[in-house]
Amino acid sequence: MNKCRFLSTAQNTLRVAIIGQSIFAADVMELLMERSNVKIVGVFTIPDKGIREDALATAAARYDIPLFKFPTWRCRKIPIPEVIEQYESVGATLNVMPYCSQLIPQEVLCAPALGSICYHPSILPRHRGISAISWTLIEADEIAAFSIFWPDDGIDTGPLLLTRQTNLEPTDTLDTIYKRFLYPEGVKAMGVAVDMITKGTALKIPQPVEGATYEADLNNEENQFLNLQQSAERIWNFIRGLDSVPGALATVVHSEECEEQVRFFGAHLYSAGPVKDGQPLKLKGLAKPAWVHEGGLLIEGTDGAFVNIKRIKRGSKMINASDWFKQAEQKPITDFTEDELAKKAQLASIWQAILKESIEDFTDFFAAGAGSMDVVRLVEEVKDAFDVPFENEHVFMAPVFEEFFGLLVKALRQGSGDSGAQKLDYDGFVLQANKRKINVPTQLFINGAFVDAEQKRTLDIVNPTDEEILCQVACASAADVDKAVQAAHKAFYGSWKQVSARQRGQLMLKLADLMEQHKEDLATIESVDSGAVYTLALKTHIGMSIDAWRYFAGWCDKIQGNTIPVNPARPNNVLTFTRKEPIGVCGLVTPWNYPLMMLSWKMAACIAAGNTCLIKPAQTCPLTALKFAELTVQAGFPPGVINVLPGNGPEAGQAVVDHPKVRKLGFTGSTAVGKQVMKSCAVSNLKKCSLELGGKSPLIIFADCDLDKAVKQGVSSVFFNKGENCIAAGRLFVEDRIHDEFVRRVLKDLRTMTIGDPLNRSTAHGPQNHKAHLDKLVSFCKRGVEEGATLLYGGCRISDMKGFFFAPTVFTDVKDEMFIAQEESFGPIMIISKFNGSDVDSVMERANRTEYGLASGVFTKDISKALSFADRIEAGTVFVNVYNKTDVAAPFGGFKQSGFGKDLGQEALNEYLKTKCVTVEY
Ligand code: NAP
Repeated sequence: MNKCRFLSTAQNTLRVAIIGQSIFAADVMELLMERSNVKIVGVFTIPDKGIREDALATAAARYDIPLFKFPTWRCRKIPIPEVIEQYESVGATLNVMPYCSQLIPQEVLCAPALGSICYHPSILPRHRGISAISWTLIEADEIAAFSIFWPDDGIDTGPLLLTRQTNLEPTDTLDTIYKRFLYPEGVKAMGVAVDMITKGTALKIPQPVEGATYEADLNNEENQFLNLQQSAERIWNFIRGLDSVPGALATVVHSEECEEQVRFFGAHLYSAGPVKDGQPLKLKGLAKPAWVHEGGLLIEGTDGAFVNIKRIKRGSKMINASDWFKQAEQKPITDFTEDELAKKAQLASIWQAILKESIEDFTDFFAAGAGSMDVVRLVEEVKDAFDVPFENEHVFMAPVFEEFFGLLVKALRQGSGDSGAQKLDYDGFVLQANKRKINVPTQLFINGAFVDAEQKRTLDIVNPTDEEILCQVACASAADVDKAVQAAHKAFYGSWKQVSARQRGQLMLKLADLMEQHKEDLATIESVDSGAVYTLALKTHIGMSIDAWRYFAGWCDKIQGNTIPVNPARPNNVLTFTRKEPIGVCGLVTPWNYPLMMLSWKMAACIAAGNTCLIKPAQTCPLTALKFAELTVQAGFPPGVINVLPGNGPEAGQAVVDHPKVRKLGFTGSTAVGKQVMKSCAVSNLKKCSLELGGKSPLIIFADCDLDKAVKQGVSSVFFNKGENCIAAGRLFVEDRIHDEFVRRVLKDLRTMTIGDPLNRSTAHGPQNHKAHLDKLVSFCKRGVEEGATLLYGGCRISDMKGFFFAPTVFTDVKDEMFIAQEESFGPIMIISKFNGSDVDSVMERANRTEYGLASGVFTKDISKALSFADRIEAGTVFVNVYNKTDVAAPFGGFKQSGFGKDLGQEALNEYLKTKCVTVEY
């Protein structure tokens, strides 16, 4: 064992020449500069590549260190005299060679008094040569290591100064070992080696010859081909040995004449194979086809075990392996102009300045260690350099350099007024109404795109005001539902997971802003499609929808669990905490009375909780849901997070309810269908469900009320939104002392109610939603009359008007056992019964004598009576001296056969979350 020559007192400053490249070398140089006894006298690195300078050169220039960029040191194995001369001019006493890819002549290695030391990423002599780290993985070594040695004139030969090693993890790739161990420990060890030299304690341990391996140089393309005729483990090791540079080469066979070379990345052994629902892909050299499936590309090794590939580089584009067959549908930009390519170089230098590593097309911003501040910096620098209004989510959606560049080019081509937010192509129709021209999509919205239904079936959408067909909308089948579920499933485990809770909130706020910007369009569509009075549509249907998105956006980053004091297991301690997690893919099925509002009540909570979803809106009025879908793309929601599928209930709705990958079902509709839905949820996969169902809400009006207010609110409790209101008062109990006066005033109001075109600003009562519903209301009234109730007003279709207009109706003398006292009409029909003011108990009992329990109301000035009512009534919502006063922050939902689970308020979030309890012993 030899010790190295140590510095004499005359030489107590070590004059170091750095020969190498990359950030590694720059870091070693900066580390040595901190030593008071070290002077960096020269830096020797590689020439610039295009406009890109090596990081070592940049660092040297920063410190004004003499800098030399030699393309080579030798010509035909003979040292180039001018190069040697320039090297000698710096007068180095030690050469430090951190990551040197050039062949350095013997004359240079031996020139300094203290010689040369070199970093090598292997435990020498094993894996000598240029691709040492890769071979460590390919050969399934159990340890990774590096050596610092005194190079002689052989390749990676020379005595050892020090070595370091670490265990290899099954998740390690070339990148991870480098970042986890070889880089940080390597830089430190170079410092230690130089310190040992200055102290005279550096060793020179002869390098054994035994065990030396000289594997192929993996920089040569011919050595990068993956041999598929070997075990899954060997395939896996080869791929990770070349991950992420340069990637293992394989050949896809499209046909006898057509083959395509690709590179594989992100491999892991796969024990759940083979897959059932994959598509075969032929690879050259593989007897059986590989399978493209949801989780990647599955390859069977010769031992029958499987290896799964996550990413494939196709040409210069990195794609998810699972998207192989979808790639043909997506058209990435390939026709870059010269100006755009120049911008690519500019963008690469922005990335490089942030990530401090050289940027390749496949460089992943986050995998390279970027944090949230780096995201902000990148976005700001891109905005500044290219005048495109980029936002943070662009980075999250396209973290790989090439994809990010694609987004930039898209934004540049769209002009600086557009943040790169996608504009969608779709088949639709132009709605000309309300002095507006509105483009309305009419296709299914699946995975971020408008598409036809597989079976090309359509639904006729009828304008209830004139009974004309407005348009045809695609009608989803079970196969379409499956497509949407798969997209939502993929997004849930993929792109949506990358979006942080706070960003989720921002996306929702942006969506709400877009809805606000388009609120007149949305209200016009809602009015024409569902018959809602325009002013009400603006305020309630659309206004409350916007409120719901804003309200739930605020919850996104406030969803948190608890820490729970449990019994410790002495002598150890225990930490138990809960996490609130999204459930997964959620199915939403909604009715026609407030189309966009029902969507928003459910979907905003569902999305805020971090789920992905598909919604089947009511078949009679799906248009605002489709317009809304368009806005979600503009807001920047990743494809698959939100899917909208118009269709009919028994087919598309049922397919949503039955789907095994849907884990939660949010349903609003009738009690009869709700029961069927709950049964199917249980049978299919025991999915969680919440049911907002029908109601027959009692409203009790005591004689001691403010009668003016009671009449006004009483009328609204029934006729609001033409009675198509789930919490509509289904039955009014009016104290006998004021009964006649109350009825008289209600009738007076109704006689002056303006009925007509819902788009007309003075209209108070529009057409019923659709013909079948109108017919149902006619028979409902007929039955009331047959059973002996007194029909005081209305009770029929308005015969002299085109459209589904039903006259506001009032029945009195209604007995408890009558059909109209028991069942929901869901229309503008007031059902009045009397009660005696001395018999409060009986009226309470009558109010509760129904299987429904959605809402209720009471008018009285007596606080005790009001609170006693609130105590005793069996309903999820209680209004006192007011009616229909709902708010997005207040939980809403029924008791008994009006369902269970809440919409709105904090409670709604819990409907879309699951609680996980974690216990840690320490
Ligand atoms: P519905 O007939 O129950 O329909 C509701 C939704 O379910 C519609 O989208 C419907 O599709 C779909 N559907 C029908 N059969 C299905 C099945 N087998 N599987 C899955 N989905 C199916 O109710 P509606 O007539 O549209 O709405 C009126 C009812 O909703 C009233 O009872 C009202 O009280 C209730 N509602 C309750 C609330 C609340 O919060 N509690 C709010 C609003 C409305 P189609 O489009 O094909 O019909």
